[in-house]
This record gives sequence, structure tokens and C-alpha cells, in this order.
Amino acid sequence: GEIRIGMGSCCVAQGSDKVRSAIESVIAQSGACADVKRVGCVGMCHQTPLVEIVPKSGETSLYAKVQADDVESLVMKHFKPKSLMRRISYSAEKFLDRFLSDDEDEPTIQKSINPREGSVCAFLGPQKHLATEYCGQIDPMNLEEYKRHDGFAGLKKCIEIGDPMKIIEEVQNSGLRGRGGAGFPSGIKWQKVREVAIDQSRGEKKYIICNGDEGDPGAFMDRMLLESFPYRIIEGMAIAAMAVGSNEGYFYVRAEYPLAVKRIREAIKICEQDGILGENILGSDFSLKLGIMEGAGAFVCGEETALLASMQGERGMPHLRPPYPAELGLWKQPTLINNVETYALVPWIMRNGSDAFAALGTEKSKGTKVFALAGKVSRGGLIEVPMGITMRQVIDDVGGGVANGKKLKAVQVGGPSGGCVPASLADTSIDYESLAEVGAIMGSGGLVVLDEDDCMVDIARYFLRFTQDQSCGKCTFCRVGTRRMLDILDRLCEGKGKKGDLDTLERLSHDVSAGSLCGLGKTAPNPVLSMLKYFREEFEAHLDGRC
Ligand code: SF4
Repeated sequence: GEIRIGMGSCCVAQGSDKVRSAIESVIAQSGACADVKRVGCVGMCHQTPLVEIVPKSGETSLYAKVQADDVESLVMKHFKPKSLMRRISYSAEKFLDRFLSDDEDEPTIQKSINPREGSVCAFLGPQKHLATEYCGQIDPMNLEEYKRHDGFAGLKKCIEIGDPMKIIEEVQNSGLRGRGGAGFPSGIKWQKVREVAIDQSRGEKKYIICNGDEGDPGAFMDRMLLESFPYRIIEGMAIAAMAVGSNEGYFYVRAEYPLAVKRIREAIKICEQDGILGENILGSDFSLKLGIMEGAGAFVCGEETALLASMQGERGMPHLRPPYPAELGLWKQPTLINNVETYALVPWIMRNGSDAFAALGTEKSKGTKVFALAGKVSRGGLIEVPMGITMRQVIDDVGGGVANGKKLKAVQVGGPSGGCVPASLADTSIDYESLAEVGAIMGSGGLVVLDEDDCMVDIARYFLRFTQDQSCGKCTFCRVGTRRMLDILDRLCEGKGKKGDLDTLERLSHDVSAGSLCGLGKTAPNPVLSMLKYFREEFEAHLDGRC
């Protein structure tokens, strides 16, 4: 049998390393016939450390919030080495006969799972795992296992196709849009980079970059994908590199993600040793060299031009576009920049075909989206759902409803660049167009659930404080405008609001949005504007000293 233990950052932070050592020592002492396997993020971050028991035959069982003290009885229960049966007193009551409890105090939770479902994730409602395929089942660093699970089949198919334009066509037909926030059609971006002519004899080349500079409060999708599926992202990048005609690429990952950096670095090395990266990949005439650069944690460096500046050793400040990175990118060469999740979806599309991907989602927003579900929700974590699902379905069916039986007040979608959607609009479909209609954006995928106890003025202040703090200072509207907006919100929260403050706040929001150069400044007022729109009475109550 196999004992799987989640080893993502969330799991490790909750002590999964200690649990793993405890399992290993119990197995060593008892001679229990089981292998311990490190797996990536299962997605149920609210229940870590998670241990899944996969016996050779019979049902799979999942244990949540496992502590090192629980391990001995857990191993004995499932593997029962005869020599130890006499001296272990196993307490069956310790394992609760329910799953996904909301009770923070419960140490372990168990539920048998139909092995045909393949993964514990099947239990988390209407999820669809493409970017997170085989989550919680495979060892992030085991290349052979990745290959056994269709790994690099997408790349092999592209090598067989041989024609880069056909690969780009497939991505275009799938309807894939960039998952970093803006939702620009990926196929068009790829085509633009492909079409730029370069003169190799003069040392010109094209670059490919994976943007892993995620930094929104409440968002951890990229971190989890990088930590759990490093080979999948490498495969996606290799396919993209082949399509656009690049032989050199970089991961740009923030240094605050040390586990992600470590795993990507290791994965690149293993791929090089295996002939998946380097010269003549998989026997073809395609070559690709990948490297990794660590960002210093500035939120603005997620913006393409600031990211490039940072990579070139300059201060991470955005530049006016055009020229776009597709024409003049890294070291003034044509450069394709895509987000982690975008690359993670590419192998699935190539393997299963663009039609299969386009069959999911809505007319204009195809496929799935990975979200970090956080805030006042019973089951927070990392989820992947088909586009077009409603916010209410995500909260109730995937997240188990609002925590502690409280009432839903709103959902903050898209982090500090996004908007706040009130409970009355919770049936809004999650797709690029519908979210924009209600004043939110998809962003990179943060979903923060707010309940009746949350103060919207305070939440608006929280997000604005973040963007104000992260403004690079280049534009006056962003640098000074957000500061003035924050002053007003501070005043309101302290009960010192002045007459006219709300109108000034609204006017400043529009001015900052219109007068800022990059996405950070342009979208910084979004949370404030949406909260003013849907919860104005709360702002007025603060102004009048009623709360
Ligand atoms: Fe910098 Fe803000 Fe201007 Fe963007 S909008 S360039 S973050 S000052």
C-alpha cells in the first residue's frame, strides 16, 4: 500500500514534515508493508496536514489535520503488522466518521473514498482538474511518475506535428486566455511573438518567460502549481517555446516562494539529465535551455514591463506600452510572457485537443480557472473549477458554505485589482465578461469570502493600503492619489470622516484609474469603487458616526 502525504507549503507550515518522519519511523519499526509518498497540494489547505491511505486493494481513506501522535494508530489501523498488533492499543473513536469538518479542534477526520474517483479532490464538489490534474496523487519531483501520468505526451505530440503554426492554431482554437489577470488570448500572443523576424546570425533570439511573481493578498495559485507540478509547467513552456521559435527561457518566481524555487530548480536539472531540456529534445531538432530568476517581492513586478526591467537588473518599474514584450522584451528581443497557470494548461490542451478544452466554460471564457478560496468559508483552499460556474456554487458546493453558519455578505474577486461582488449577485457566472459587468475582474484568481461581520470600509482600506504600499511611485496619480484615498478611508474608519469625503473618494478613484500608467494604478481603485457602489450606506454610516 501507499501512504500519501501532502508536501506543499501549506502542508509543511502545518507540520506535514513531522508527520512524514513519524510515518517513516513507524513503518521502519513495525515493518508495515507501506510506502510513504510525498505528493503535491491536494487543495484542501484548511485541513492540512493531510494523509491519504491507498491500500493495494480496497478503499482509499483520507485523514485530515493529522498530528505526529496520531500516526502510529493510523498506520496500524490500515496495515496491521502482526508483530505489533498485541502491543498497540488502537482507539477507533479517535478517527471521526465524517469528512471535511468545520470544527477546528478535531484532530483527525476520516472518510473512505471510492478508489475509482482517483483522488480526494473528487470530493470537493464540481471541480475539474486540468492545470491541477492528478493533484494529491503524484510526487512533484518524480519525473518517471509524471511521465506515467501522460507527462510530456503533449510535448511529444507537438514534436510529431512539427509545424509551429499548427500548435499555435490549436491554442487559438482552444480559446485559452492568459490566466495572469488580463485574459488576453494566448494564441494571439504566441502568434505575435512567432511572427517577429529575428536575425540569428546577429545573435538575435527570442525568449520565453514564466511569470510566477504572484503577490496578491489571498492568492497562492501560482505557488501551489509551481510546487506541485513543476514538470507540467516546464512542459507547457517547452511547447510554447517550440511554437514561438525560442530556445531560451526563464522562470521569474518571487523569492518568498522558496519551496517553489527549489522544486523548479531541481526539476530543470532532472529534465536536463533526462534529455527533456537541452539540445535535441526527445530526439528532435528543437533545443531549449531554461533558468530561474528570483524576484524580490514587489507586487508591481508581476506587470510584464516591470518584470523585464527587474530581470535586466534595473529597478522594477513599468514602462509605457507599446512596444510590447512580444516585439521588444528581454534584452530588447521578442519575448513571450505567460503566467504559471497558462503554461500549466497547455499540455492538457495539446494532449486532449482544443475542442475538449473549448467544451468547458462559457462562450468567451473557455476551460477552467484555478482559485485560491479564502476568507470566511468553511473549506478554504486551492480549487480548479470550470469557467461559468457561479460564485454561489463555488462557495456552497466547493467551499461548504460560509463558515460558522454566518450570512454571506460579499465576495472579493481578483484581489486588490478586483472588485467586491455583493451576496445579491452571488449567482453571477465566473467568467471574464460577467465579472467585468458587475465591477470585478478575474485577476489572477483570489476569491475572498466576506460574511455579515465584515466591515466593507475596512476591507476597502485593507486592499487600498496594499496597492498604495506597492505603488512604484512613477505616476503622480498612483503615488499621491492612492495616498489621498487611503487618508480618507483611514479617517472614515476612525470615525473622523468629513462632509464630501465620499464624493472625493469616488472622484479620486476615477482620476487614479485614468491617470495611471500600469495595471496596478489603473485597477487599484476597483475594490473601493465596487464597495462604494454596493455598500455605500456603510460608508455613510461611518461618515455619520453610526458605526
Ligand atoms: Fe508605478 Fe503605479 Fe504608475 Fe504603475 S501606475 S507605473 S505602479 S506609479
